[in-house]
Amino acid sequence: MELICDSCGKRWEMEPNFWRCACGAPLRWDLKVYFDLAAIEERNWSIWRYRAMLKLPENAQTVSLGEGATPLIPTPEKQSWLKLEFLNPTGSFKDRGASVLVTGLKAWGISEVAEDSSGNAGVALSAYAKVSGIDCRIFVPKGASEGKIVALQRFGAQIVFCSNRQEAAEQVMIAVQSGIYYASHTWHPLYLQGTKTVAYELAEQLDWIIDENWSVFIPVGNGDLLLGIHLGFQELVFSKVIKRLPRLIGVQALACAPIYAAVHNLTLPFNRTVAEGVAVTDPPRIRQIIAAVRETDGDIVAVSEPSILNAVDELAGLGFWVEPTGAISWAAWNQLGKPPKSILILTGAGWKTLKP
Ligand SMILES: [Zn+2]
Repeated sequence: MELICDSCGKRWEMEPNFWRCACGAPLRWDLKVYFDLAAIEERNWSIWRYRAMLKLPENAQTVSLGEGATPLIPTPEKQSWLKLEFLNPTGSFKDRGASVLVTGLKAWGISEVAEDSSGNAGVALSAYAKVSGIDCRIFVPKGASEGKIVALQRFGAQIVFCSNRQEAAEQVMIAVQSGIYYASHTWHPLYLQGTKTVAYELAEQLDWIIDENWSVFIPVGNGDLLLGIHLGFQELVFSKVIKRLPRLIGVQALACAPIYAAVHNLTLPFNRTVAEGVAVTDPPRIRQIIAAVRETDGDIVAVSEPSILNAVDELAGLGFWVEPTGAISWAAWNQLGKPPKSILILTGAGWKTLKP
């Protein structure tokens, strides 16, 4: 039994039609993966170099667009690092989750999927579904970036417009009840098997020398990236490849910061933010996110709208066109005085925020 419910404690095996516990709470992976350095496929320059360490259905055929193996480059003062996740095939780290999830869905014979997403997760899913011959329906809240909607159209997704995120979440559930598979980046356990490869890559790119003196700055909305990175580093510690977990610094936009508010015992209003990818008012995995951050002696940081726009400009000054959501890790690093031994995850590309 490799999946655990944090709410009721019940354990489950991974099964096709199974994206949450029977009690309704999200599931997390038990620590059972042994990271074997000798099992890395050295000539494979994608997340699939770690295939032996990914939990997948039996006989799954890889669905890959070359995701992962993104550059890790030094910051201008050379004491910290930028992880260029916006260079993934559809322009965000979500390709890692979508690649593993769709690989699993294909093995299970799924032919039609639905997802509620305002952007990158929907675009990634639609691309991997397209290449797999799986029909894809995305429920999109009004106000999503036009560039992301154009990308969804490009990959042939059926787009259902909803008045807001809440309605999108309700509408997707109606579709799921009618028999369409829920390929959720927020809920599906396989998604974290993809995003955990960020931790593997960071450790390998730093010659397996990463520990509690390092901080990883991660934009957090639903937490699928932070929880994946946490899982990956946990497995590396469990397997004695690294000695200790680095500190995880979850970053939110102050205008929509429920996790920051919960960690720091604050009551904050929700407003619109330019960091649309992390504008989540009620993340289902909030308990897991807070537990992960605390376990690493990390923190949740919130950044203002002007500081986000400033971060986008500063990154452009380095030649990187990153979307506002992807720039908040830089904004938080600035806010904390640019501590050395930091890794900033630049999650999404700027081009999708363009108007068509
Ligand atoms: Zn449960």
